Amino acid sequence: MTILVTGGAGFIGSNFVLDWLAHTDEPVVNVDKLTYAGNLRNLSALEGDARHFFLREDICDGSRMLDIIATHRPRAVINFAAESHVDRSIAGPEEFIQTNVVGCFRLLEAVREASNGFSDAWMSSFRFVQVSTDEVYGSLTPSAPAFSEANRFEPNSPYSASKAAADHLARAYWHTYGLPTVTTNCSNNYGPFHFPEKLIPLCINNALAGLPLPLYGDGRQVRDWLFVRDHCAALRVVLERGIPGETYNIGGKAEVTNLEVVQMICDILDELRPDPLSGSYRRLITFVKDRPGHDRRYAIDASKIESQLGWYPRVAFRDGLRQTIEWYLDNEDWVSGITSGAYRDWIRRQYGSG
Ligand code: NAD
Repeated sequence: MTILVTGGAGFIGSNFVLDWLAHTDEPVVNVDKLTYAGNLRNLSALEGDARHFFLREDICDGSRMLDIIATHRPRAVINFAAESHVDRSIAGPEEFIQTNVVGCFRLLEAVREASNGFSDAWMSSFRFVQVSTDEVYGSLTPSAPAFSEANRFEPNSPYSASKAAADHLARAYWHTYGLPTVTTNCSNNYGPFHFPEKLIPLCINNALAGLPLPLYGDGRQVRDWLFVRDHCAALRVVLERGIPGETYNIGGKAEVTNLEVVQMICDILDELRPDPLSGSYRRLITFVKDRPGHDRRYAIDASKIESQLGWYPRVAFRDGLRQTIEWYLDNEDWVSGITSGAYRDWIRRQYGSG
């Protein structure tokens, strides 16, 4: 059997492909458009590995998706492909609607059409996993209970609205057509191969370069962090035992303010590679104008996946953060390979530095 992964050259997708092939010999067909966020270097460990078959394709191309699914007959599709950066969705939402909504729709349609030629047995064991975010639920007040699967969708950014739309489509394809979809809504991930426009890798790399560590507003926004390999393990469990039509929240039980995250990065870096100028990278922390519509707090109640599927996060935030920082220190080539002109222009426009 084979699984089809979309967006498998991005941050979580590439971690998933590596994790999958470390746990099983079941081949992966990896479909990725290779946008600015896709990077085949993430998968260099798989060079020459016949279990990994890469196709540079756009999930919005419905006829190519149909062709690929009809040819490879995967037993599952896991949709990671997306535009994923909230700030970019505010600057230009169009791509987010195309890939996140239309792309998901094209994939669902391709599976629906291809499945006409497949047996009932194939269909009953097939799964379409829509990989999504906790941001679809909107923002929490400091004392509100964490998001459960029963929370209403209240997305506040074009990114989260586009993901919410796709999640609704996945749900509708189960209820309307019986296509076995499962949706996962996960909290903020961090770990190796994270594109350095996102908070944690941005701050690691800026600190090493002696650049400001930009924090939106007062830096007191709360996020729930999950080590990416814990997310990959959750997705393996969902593929194995997830019930069609269900959604599963995935989270790390690690609520931390953005300011605390950046302070922790500074403190770990102070130990691992001391700041040549002052002895503490904290001097670089800089508060910048807040993001429009910035959600105050996300927190995930993951008790459903824990009790029903037996998955638990294993990596404590501080340990995962240290591992991540060590990975960036050991992989400065990977970072310099992507922090080129276009990346610098974007960071400069966003924060006025870089
Ligand atoms: P990413 O931006 O690092 O990677 C996205 C990948 O999708 C890239 O490789 C890109 O080339 C590819 N892609 C984009 N448009 C495509 C298209 N039209 N066709 C084919 N491939 C395309 O994103 P990520 O952080 O790895 O997130 C992966 C998924 O997980 C996304 O759906 C995101 O919404 C979701 N998610 C992310 C987080 C997080 O903290 N990063 C948390 C929860 C859920």
